[in-house]
Amino acid sequence: MQVGLEVGGIARGLHQDGVLIDGRNLTSALVDTADQLAARPRRALFEASFEYRGVLVRTDLLLPAKRGWRLVEVKASASVKPVHPADVAIQAWVAEGAGVRLAETALACIDTGFVYSGEGDYRGLLAEHPMGEEIEGLRTEVPKWIRAARATLAGPEPDIEPGDQCTDPYACPFLEHCVPPQEETGYPPEILPRARPSPRHCARRVISTFARSPPGVSSTHCTSASASPRRAVCPSSTPRRSGS
Ligand code: SF4
Repeated sequence: MQVGLEVGGIARGLHQDGVLIDGRNLTSALVDTADQLAARPRRALFEASFEYRGVLVRTDLLLPAKRGWRLVEVKASASVKPVHPADVAIQAWVAEGAGVRLAETALACIDTGFVYSGEGDYRGLLAEHPMGEEIEGLRTEVPKWIRAARATLAGPEPDIEPGDQCTDPYACPFLEHCVPPQEETGYPPEILPRARPSPRHCARRVISTFARSPPGVSSTHCTSASASPRRAVCPSSTPRRSGS
């Protein structure tokens, strides 16, 4: 998270005439963005904010282009990850829906060959990857993802067991609700013979079971009836979204 913020700050520093849209009040952010889009001369916008059909996004970089604007999503990542195109597709869908003419979309990742020469000169740190082709087929999917997410929110809590989806590709904000932190004991699951790495929720439940069981009594796996999973509104029941 901190690295992401620092990389975002560096990306802004590379466009020194840019304008940061204050996001503390999202209504004001939308108005300020509209004002900056209409201003002349056009300048780079950081955290430009758009709303379309009830979906709000804040874009890392929105740069003036020959015919419109370039939307650049900045990632503290050395390469384009499978989740990134969907992230950019959602942002592009919202921005275009809000009336922005996007000439290009790109993802800026860290160039691992970059050599820092000092004095705050980070030119060359970020390598841009055009995303036009990658997101082309996803644009029509975005409305479906949003419909599915809304249906999930409107319905009862889905019966989803916590698992890898809770932390990959991003930590879910409901994690503490679905998997409350357990008190640590002196019997971590790793002491078991042939113990394998397991999802964090399994580890926590085993710890919890050990805490309840007297010595010598075997543990109960988390899928058993006595350790039924918590239920939550689970983003994993719908296609994953991006972060903005
Ligand atoms: S809501 Fe779903 S993805 Fe999030 S922590 Fe709960 S089970 Fe995991």
